[in-house]
Amino acid sequence: MSDRVVETAKPWAEVARSIEFVPTRYAVRDQPESVAREMLRCDSTGIDELVDAGLPYELKSGVRHFDPNDLYNLGMYSKSSRTQPELTFRMLFRFADRPVDPLLKPKTWAMRVRLECPECTEVAPWRFEAPDVVRFGGRVDDAVAPEASTGSAEFSATVTTTGARTPLVSTELRRLTRDYLDAGYRWQMVPVAMQADYELVHSLGATSCIAASLFLAEQFRAAGYRAEAKRGWFCGVLGGALDLPHACVEVIDDDGAVKTVDIAKAQLAARLSANTAQFQELCLGSIYNKVIPSTASGNAPFGYHDCASPKAVQVYSDIRPAR
Ligand SMILES: [Zn+2]
Repeated sequence: MSDRVVETAKPWAEVARSIEFVPTRYAVRDQPESVAREMLRCDSTGIDELVDAGLPYELKSGVRHFDPNDLYNLGMYSKSSRTQPELTFRMLFRFADRPVDPLLKPKTWAMRVRLECPECTEVAPWRFEAPDVVRFGGRVDDAVAPEASTGSAEFSATVTTTGARTPLVSTELRRLTRDYLDAGYRWQMVPVAMQADYELVHSLGATSCIAASLFLAEQFRAAGYRAEAKRGWFCGVLGGALDLPHACVEVIDDDGAVKTVDIAKAQLAARLSANTAQFQELCLGSIYNKVIPSTASGNAPFGYHDCASPKAVQVYSDIRPAR
């Protein structure tokens, strides 16, 4: 028997009012209306209702185009149980309302990361922020680093992660974390560049993994703790098809140990199901095997190309359970 809360689909105009749209300066409105209808399982009338309620779009060759984050957030908060975002998140977080012990065991991933440098015209070395799992009891085997090239390159490795129950012990860190969770920020998909502007994200009443981690790291430091937001990869069941940006806070706790606080995952899990208390607690200091930490700081990219192109390197990750 399912304990899932029975929800009722909301009218699209109401859904539109309940989320924050990506501001124009961070939006990439490249998803045509046909994709929007497919993602949201609605017809043109539904799209018209959303546009009337403020969903921003750009006209290209007479076709309305939308930002993928806006579409994701509309789907996620539609409560229709049918949209692609709802189905995707439910699948991705299926593990979160189960016992957490399997998340603490070693797990091996086949990881490939493709780096693409737009408008690239010369051979140059790549810099890649690699998996940083050894500090947390993990292992990297068969790593192949990107070699100097033009346009694109690949990193691959077999990465073993593990988990450990190391909850926060500092009452001050716990209080700051609890205050943040109680503040009621709404978890949304937010473009990575916008997440670095974490004050803007929070001023909209929204949050997301990187923004939340940058914000909380700042509060931990203000309370006298050594803390830094770090990026990583959240390994799901989709082989990276949903590129869910991941970050958490690394903080030195009162017991001298490095703890990781994955505040936005705790928040997201709470949104998705009421039965995720154990997983939420795991997010507050402990480590679990579905995250591959990296050497990148919270608002830094995973890859750079030392060429003359002014464009940022695009990073496509594919992470699957190893056989
Ligand atoms: Zn380049």
